Order: sequence, then structure tokens, then C-alpha cells
Amino acid sequence: MNIGLDVGSTTAKIVHMETGEIIFSEVVPSHRWRELIDDGQDEKRIISTGYFRKKVPHFTAITEITAASLGARYHDPEAQVIIDIGGQDTKVIDLRSNTFIINDKCSAGTGAFLELAARYFDIPVDSLGDMHQRATKEVQINNTCGVFAISEMISQLVGGYTMEDVIYGLHQAFARRIAQMVPPADKVMLIGGTVQNTGIVDAVNAVLDSKIEVPIAPQLVNALGAALYRERSNSSR
Ligand code: ADP
Repeated sequence: MNIGLDVGSTTAKIVHMETGEIIFSEVVPSHRWRELIDDGQDEKRIISTGYFRKKVPHFTAITEITAASLGARYHDPEAQVIIDIGGQDTKVIDLRSNTFIINDKCSAGTGAFLELAARYFDIPVDSLGDMHQRATKEVQINNTCGVFAISEMISQLVGGYTMEDVIYGLHQAFARRIAQMVPPADKVMLIGGTVQNTGIVDAVNAVLDSKIEVPIAPQLVNALGAALYRERSNSSR
């Protein structure tokens, strides 16, 4: 069995793989990563990745770029570009040239930004997608930088737009911000916890010309990629 452990800035994810199949997976907040590892579990089986990869037990630590590339290709060998929308940053990886760019400035285009909005509305972050689908009007939001976006949101609410319309507008602004980072491509794969928000997927789909794919369990792709890294090195021995 090979274990991929992805400890990111917001959540920790684990994937157990045996002969190319996922046999177990779990997600917890990052500070509770220890819950994912059994006492006495063989450290030699763990390939870690994510922001805290070097702080957790591991046999080998690999970058999120390597992990995402392996995980995405497992789902679709023809994926050209990966957009990984995590808790504190967004990474765009071009698999054709093995290059990437990262945005972690002022929470623009990250899960933290949407969490801020959800907190303002006092709703769970996982209801943002449903709210988006219920919008009836298009609200223009221009800012994606935390506090500025919130004050823009408030002025649209005061102006008479509904919470659903404003959330729709936020998702559009979010997607436009991310689109600036994305090179032209036929196939783009969305991964990371934030793409469990169907409003974000729809908004990115609307702003990009590319075919958009979302794998099953998008939040686990990097942990899966880490487990695959081990499988790959085992099989080449
Ligand atoms: P990281 O690897 O950077 O720790 P993840 O890829 O695990 O981050 O993504 C965490 C983000 O995903 C958080 O900001 C969280 O709010 C968001 N998220 C998780 N589940 C959902 C959901 N069902 N709907 C919307 N956002 C979600």
C-alpha cells in the first residue's frame, strides 16, 4: 500500500492506494493532520505534499506541482492545464511546458475569499454553489481583494440585489481573476477544495474558452498524485 499525504494551508488529505486503486481517503482541517496517520504506521509508505509537506512524517516529500500533475494525469492523460484552487492560494500549472504560476495575494481567487463572503452572509461555504444557481440577476462585482469586495457586495445589497445575485457576481469576479492566470488550452482541469462549489465551476466555464473538467473528489487530487508517485517508483524498481 502507498500513502499520499497532502497537508495544505487549510486542510489535510490522505489517500491510500493499492495496485492503482484508491482504497481509503479522508480530509480534516490541517492542524488535525495527525488523525490521518495510525500510530506505528510505516513512515516509509508516506509521500507527502502540500505547504506543510516537510513538517509531517514522510519517506519522500514532493511539491504540489508534481503531485497535481500526477493526480490530474491519472484522471485524464490529456489534461493540458490544471487550476488548483485551494484555501490560501491558486496555482495554474501548464502540463505542456511544466511551468506554473501561483497567486496568494490578498486572498483574491482563493477559498479564503469565498469563506469571507460566506461568513458575512452567515451561511456555510458549501451552500455557495446552490445560492449561485438561484441567482436571477447579474450583479457586477469588480474587486476580488477581501475587504474591498465585501464593501462592494454591501453596496449592491443596499441597492436592492439579493444575496444569491451578489454571490453569483462574486463568483464571476473570482473566475475573471483566475482566468487572467490561465494560458490558452483545449482542456483545463479544475482541482482543489474550492471547486466543490458548482458556482465557481460554472463561472470558470463561462469565462474560459477551454473544455473544463472536474475530476471525482477534486480536493484529493494532490494526495492521490503523491500516492501515485510512490506507486510509480515502486514499479520502476
Ligand atoms: P489547501 O490544500 O490549500 O489546504 P483545499 O484544496 O483543501 O486547500 O481547499 C480548501 C478550501 O476549499 C477551503 O477554502 C474551503 O472553504 C473550500 N471548500 C471545501 N469544501 C467546499 C465546498 N463543498 N464548497 C465550497 N468550498 C469548499
